[in-house]
Amino acid sequence: MNLNNFNINNFNNLGLNKKLLKIIYNIGYKIPTEIQIKCIPLFLKGKDILAIAKTGSGKTASFVLPILNNININNNLQVLILSPTRELVIQIYNFFNLFIKYLKNIKILSLYGGQNYNIEFNNLKKKPNIVIATPGRLLDHINKKTLYLTDIKILVIDEADEMLHMGFINDVKMIIKNIKVLHQTALFSATMSFHIYKITKNIMNNPKEIILNKNKINLNIFQYFCFVNPKFKVNILINFLETEIFDRLIIFVKTKDFSSKLSFLLEKRGYLSSALNGDMNQNLREKIVLNFRKGLINILVATDIASRGLDISNVNLIINYDLPYNVNSYIHRIGRTGRADNIGKAILFLERKDLKFLNLINRKFNNSIKRINLPNLNTLLNIRFNKILDLIKNNFYKNSYILNFYKKFLNKIINSLNEKEIFDIALSLLILFYEKNFSKISYKDLSKINYRW
Ligand code: AMP
Repeated sequence: MNLNNFNINNFNNLGLNKKLLKIIYNIGYKIPTEIQIKCIPLFLKGKDILAIAKTGSGKTASFVLPILNNININNNLQVLILSPTRELVIQIYNFFNLFIKYLKNIKILSLYGGQNYNIEFNNLKKKPNIVIATPGRLLDHINKKTLYLTDIKILVIDEADEMLHMGFINDVKMIIKNIKVLHQTALFSATMSFHIYKITKNIMNNPKEIILNKNKINLNIFQYFCFVNPKFKVNILINFLETEIFDRLIIFVKTKDFSSKLSFLLEKRGYLSSALNGDMNQNLREKIVLNFRKGLINILVATDIASRGLDISNVNLIINYDLPYNVNSYIHRIGRTGRADNIGKAILFLERKDLKFLNLINRKFNNSIKRINLPNLNTLLNIRFNKILDLIKNNFYKNSYILNFYKKFLNKIINSLNEKEIFDIALSLLILFYEKNFSKISYKDLSKINYRW
């Protein structure tokens, strides 16, 4: 997303109240994004909205701000936000809290699978004004009669295309049946499809459509593809990890199983990596995302479901190790980088048979996906050599006190050896060091392996 160059506009013109404008100023947002400019005034007027906007466009604020502007503080549950995954629910919840901490008396609650029911029952008794939930868990509460939707005035359905994809749409329809009064609905989807269109016809009242410029390329993300021989994929990945510069990296793979295996392999090689997949329990997933956010780990090996919608700044590299299952999934994956004003890079691993997919995404992105060569042996050796040189230099200075400590002992040994012996020992140590760091696989130049397999 490019937040800057849409329009010379500011938040004052959107119809938000002064209190909120002050908070927005405190948070540091200066210019509203395109979706915010288009969505907030309509939302404030109570219109039904169908917004096609990808993650990273600032869409969360485009519904959070008008909701907070229009909310009536009493003891009723007035706003319901449905989101497909627990991570997204938590993200929206945190986003609300950014603002709510400046506003008094607004009670907000998140409900999602994996969370302790008793905690949720107790929190529901406190009568929240806003609930953010995954559809399955919300239906559980409706069926248990621990939550009623009779006073809902605003319903937001976030990531509707993903709801469809994950088979939640019937749950959503069931939920809507429980909302009795006339209410405002806003539906957000990263992509438009016939199904989405049909749903909006059924559940919305003459919605205003906001479709962000479809062909607009996210100028912040530089996209590349490379041809890889499947036999050497892991080694090629490791070569990229050595040659690319990144703060945080997400590697996308197809299966949960492989995400764990690949991450384990990277950890063994000394990388600060963790898998993130749907097999993990809720607490673990949250902990991993938090560690990634804090920078305690800087590589996530993720499956699509687990990383949907994650908004983490400083992800500046995405590697699509396995092919995404469709073009939309590709758009979502690369959307984890280049967020707000940051620059991102995305590399797609392709096998010959995947050329059709490349054509599809290139059509979507106006042929802006460029071929990148695999890191060649010379580059790799240079990078490793420089790293080792740094290591030796830094360690020498750091460890000089150790040298002093053992000086007597070393002197004694050195005095008992002749010059050739000292030279041989130094040489052997260097060779051992070289062997360890310039492992055998590096000598095969993977960039030169033929792609016709
Ligand atoms: P979203 O598309 O809602 O996931 O938002 C993407 C990121 O953009 C989030 O980190 C927001 O905090 C940030 N953001 C949203 N609106 C603005 C704005 N007007 N100015 C600067 N950053 C924003």
